Amino acid sequence: MIDFHCHLDLYPDPQAVAAACQERGLYVLSVTTTPSAWNGTSALALGKSRIRTALGLHPQVAHLRKSELPLFEKLVGQTRYVGEIGLDGAPEFKPHWNDQMEVFERILTACSNAQGKILSLHSRRASKDVLSRLAEHPRAGIPILHWFSGTAKEVDRAVEQGCWFSVGPAMLSSSKGRSLVERMPHDRILTESDGPFAQLEGRSILPWEASWAVLGLSDAWAVPPAEVEQRLAQNLARLGSASLG
Ligand SMILES: [Zn+2]
Repeated sequence: MIDFHCHLDLYPDPQAVAAACQERGLYVLSVTTTPSAWNGTSALALGKSRIRTALGLHPQVAHLRKSELPLFEKLVGQTRYVGEIGLDGAPEFKPHWNDQMEVFERILTACSNAQGKILSLHSRRASKDVLSRLAEHPRAGIPILHWFSGTAKEVDRAVEQGCWFSVGPAMLSSSKGRSLVERMPHDRILTESDGPFAQLEGRSILPWEASWAVLGLSDAWAVPPAEVEQRLAQNLARLGSASLG
C-alpha cells in the first residue's frame, strides 16, 4: 500500500496517524507546505522505515512564505524528496502569480544544483506552465504530478517529459479524472490520498485509504486489484532506485 502524497502534519493528531501508517505497513510520502514545517514533520517519520518526508513550499502560500526560500535552500540537501511545490492558477491565487513563479523557479534551480530530487507537484489550472517550467529544468529530478487535472494532450506532453503521476480516490471518482488516468502509462503511476485535504465519504481521507484508488485502477486497467498492487510496488521500487538529475 502506497500513499505518495499526504499531509501527515495537518491531521489533528499527526503522531497517531503516523503510527497507524507504520502499523499498517503503508509506504508514505509526507509532504510539507512550508520549509519551516520541515523539522516538525520529518520528526513524525523517526523510527518509521516506510515514511519519507518531502521539503515543500506550496504555491498557495508562495506569496506569504517566499521569505523562507533561503531556508529551503539550506535544507534541500537533507532529503531526496521535494514537495508540495508547483503552481496554482485558480482565481483566488492568480493575483500572486508572480510570487508563485519566483518561488517555483528558485526551488527548481535549488533541486538542479542538488543533483536532482523526486518532486511532488501541484498543477491545478496551471498544467501548461508547470510543464514548461519543468522543461526548462531537466536536471531538477523526477517530477510526479499529483492529482493532475489538465487535458489529455497535457498528459501526453507530461509523459514525453518523463513525468510520473500520483492518483487518488477523488480523482478516480470523476469521469474526467478516470479518462486522464486511462491515458497514463501503467509504469508511471503511484497512489495517493492528499489527506487531510481530499475527502472521502464527506470527511478527510486517511492515508491508508489511498488504497481505494487500487480498485479504480483495477477497473481502468481491467486487471485484478492484486495485479495493480504488484505493479504499483514495482513502480515504487523503480523510483526508489532511480538516479536523479
Ligand atoms: Zn497536497
